[in-house]
Amino acid sequence: MVLADLGRRLNAALSSLNRAPVVDEVVLDALLKEVCAALLESDVNVKLVSQLRQKVKTKVKATFETSGDKLKEANRKNVVQKAIFDELVHLVDPGVEPYKPKKGHPNVIMAVGLQGNGKTTTCTKLAVHYQKRGFKSCIVCADTFRAGAFDQTRQSATKAKVAYFGSYTETDPVAIAAQGVAKFKKEKFEVIIVDTSGRHKQESELFEEMVQIGHAVQPDMTVLVLDASIGQAAEAQSRAFKDSANFGAIIVTKMDGHAKGGGAISAVAATQTPIIFLGTGEHLTDLDRFAPQPFISKLLGFGDVQGLMEHMQDLATQNPDRQKEITKKLEEGKLSIRDWREQIQNVMNLGPISKIASMIPGLPQEMLAGSDEEGAVRMKRMIYITDSMTSAELDSDGSCFMEFAKDGKPTALTWRVTRVARGSGTSVREVEELLCQYRMMANMAKQAGGKNGWMQAMQKMQ
Ligand code: GDP
Repeated sequence: MVLADLGRRLNAALSSLNRAPVVDEVVLDALLKEVCAALLESDVNVKLVSQLRQKVKTKVKATFETSGDKLKEANRKNVVQKAIFDELVHLVDPGVEPYKPKKGHPNVIMAVGLQGNGKTTTCTKLAVHYQKRGFKSCIVCADTFRAGAFDQTRQSATKAKVAYFGSYTETDPVAIAAQGVAKFKKEKFEVIIVDTSGRHKQESELFEEMVQIGHAVQPDMTVLVLDASIGQAAEAQSRAFKDSANFGAIIVTKMDGHAKGGGAISAVAATQTPIIFLGTGEHLTDLDRFAPQPFISKLLGFGDVQGLMEHMQDLATQNPDRQKEITKKLEEGKLSIRDWREQIQNVMNLGPISKIASMIPGLPQEMLAGSDEEGAVRMKRMIYITDSMTSAELDSDGSCFMEFAKDGKPTALTWRVTRVARGSGTSVREVEELLCQYRMMANMAKQAGGKNGWMQAMQKMQ
């Protein structure tokens, strides 16, 4: 993802500040030059970049002047870093709260956008997202323009186990939308997503149709789906849609590709509408929540605790009793190898390792090195090793793999290690490493006080 390059450059620029002995105008100018160059290269609008530079300079100067010589050098650095952070957040934050679906209410969400932007895919992703959070969700396919749109919805909705509505015979999209929404409202669905037709370009027929569907279904929120790869053209496209469909939120898709992203993300600020999600792949779970502060924080390598907590909550809602049990075991220091294996599998289910790791604050960038495939392979090998353990070994705290001296110190490995290595097609060293990591993780989690301790511990171990 090209945004990761932007993040690395911004992070490097900010880190260079820590190496500067004094923070004066020359240092500030050099830093801003690097930050602005990185933003411009990522396609961020030149006017916005120049405003950012000016605002940071004014803010920093004002603080330095009012504080005079009292401000310590370390604090001067903080002032600069905070000013840049705040302005980067401002760049992607129109200051408008997006609509939040309410439980027990038929929340109608209408998706609009040009053909090929990823609208149909995003509708299913959205339904999956809300379904995971306990909303009874469904999709109405009112795209009668594109041949095969209903088939696509039917296939992806079936795969995602989400209810859907559409028609092979009805050609009036307004009628389909109205029928579908009425049906699902009657059936007490809580998130009803209406997928509308796209066109290859912005044309009056498309806008007219959107307005009519809007009148028919009275959406609580209209979402514009924008393709990141259109770069700065996103501004004109979003303005055109805003004028006719007056959407209240934006989803930028294909952020996983080679698109620079900065164009779409910053250009939408022009419509003063919040981005709510980023599409990051073709899979149904490739949808990342977007909130300005966590986004910039993650981009700069500062982590995204909020996002991590959401992931954790997803796991907890899927199996709340088991997570409670694990937390209790952790707090009591009674986590078995079997429990640990389950947690590794959970992390693998959360998504690519890099995505999860980048949410954890304080993790050095080098920790994220290596591809997601490498991370996944490392985790899979750990699972293979545990697969070769007996039931009793899995339920143990790992001490059966060790011989101990009288003072309780481990002195040697037992025959069990060799057996597990042979059985799993790995080496004695790998098994030893795994046991060592398990013990480290169990200790660290205990110290961290259970709850999310295991997660932090696991990531440290990557
Ligand atoms: P629509 O015409 O706007 O409904 O677009 P579709 O949902 O049919 O998507 C067009 C293409 O973009 C399909 O091949 C999707 O798989 C792909 N696509 C959609 N969202 C994303 C995304 O976030 N990342 C990637 N890589 N591809 C996406």
